[in-house]
Amino acid sequence: MLDTHELKARIDCRDLVEHDLGKPKSRSSSYSTYKCPLHHETKGYSLVVYADHWRCFGKCQRGGDAIAWMQAYHQLSFHGACERLTSGDLPQVKQPQRHQPESASDSEPPEDAWQRAAREVAQITMDTLWGKEGKRAWDYLETERGLTEKTIVDAGLGYIPGGHREWKTIAGLNVPCGIVIPWFGDGVIWGIKVRRAAGEPRYQQVRGGRISRGLYLGDDIRPGLPILLTEGEFDALIARQVGEGLISAAAIGSAANRRIHLRWYPKFLAAPSILIRMDADQAGQGAAAQIASLSRAARCVQVPQGKDVNEFYMTAGHETVRRWIEAMV
Ligand SMILES: [Zn+2]
Repeated sequence: MLDTHELKARIDCRDLVEHDLGKPKSRSSSYSTYKCPLHHETKGYSLVVYADHWRCFGKCQRGGDAIAWMQAYHQLSFHGACERLTSGDLPQVKQPQRHQPESASDSEPPEDAWQRAAREVAQITMDTLWGKEGKRAWDYLETERGLTEKTIVDAGLGYIPGGHREWKTIAGLNVPCGIVIPWFGDGVIWGIKVRRAAGEPRYQQVRGGRISRGLYLGDDIRPGLPILLTEGEFDALIARQVGEGLISAAAIGSAANRRIHLRWYPKFLAAPSILIRMDADQAGQGAAAQIASLSRAARCVQVPQGKDVNEFYMTAGHETVRRWIEAMV
């Protein structure tokens, strides 16, 4: 399989774009600027290129990583872009850096010891959810989120009883009280997120996990099915539950300033279409733009009512949501 994350680690977007466009208008220690060729810019210098990504802050608003640049500027497919980048006739492709950029760590699973502890947390808190102490949380998941028992089991959801400001030490990890949402992918536990009953931010992560640029339910993406990509975990769980057999569902997690790590891109390759359902805020739109730049098969969709898929489901019900999904695919 194409090792796109290794590929990207070797490429400095500033060098790549300079190879195509020539000397930048300016080049600082962290970025270069150009007239954006993608919208044939004449007046300003809206294209800003960083080491690991680029973005047009002018008319076209396009952006992405090295692969997205090759797709946009050379009008290549994702595969074509990767091939061109690996072909070796790009003199500016660098050898692996000694000082890995910060983003490189997002592509590597957490340390083994952390993973062992996290799996223990997932197991213990799942048992709690199934026990007497988990009753209230279970009711919440069923009646306020609409999740079925099968969905709750498949997702490995758990519960830690306690006040919303409380944290508990489980298997050596400091974990907030609330509903536990483990993030699995490629056979690895990447993180643990907890939805607290109150307080802001409502969702907290257990320290040591690496989900800030991850893909929730990425393992469930089945080749050949369209993907519905949401912001929140519960939206993806409901979408998967209702859209069984029609779509795969995945989420980026509801944090701000999100960009999915290149590591997860191959998951999108075998999908005939990618439906992106992000919140209308800036972070959601940024994430949507990044994902849309991955594939021509991607398009943004909205829910007919409610603020997200989960709310739509709770007001409209299973049949209506199922028909909405059917109409989209
Ligand atoms: Zn532009």
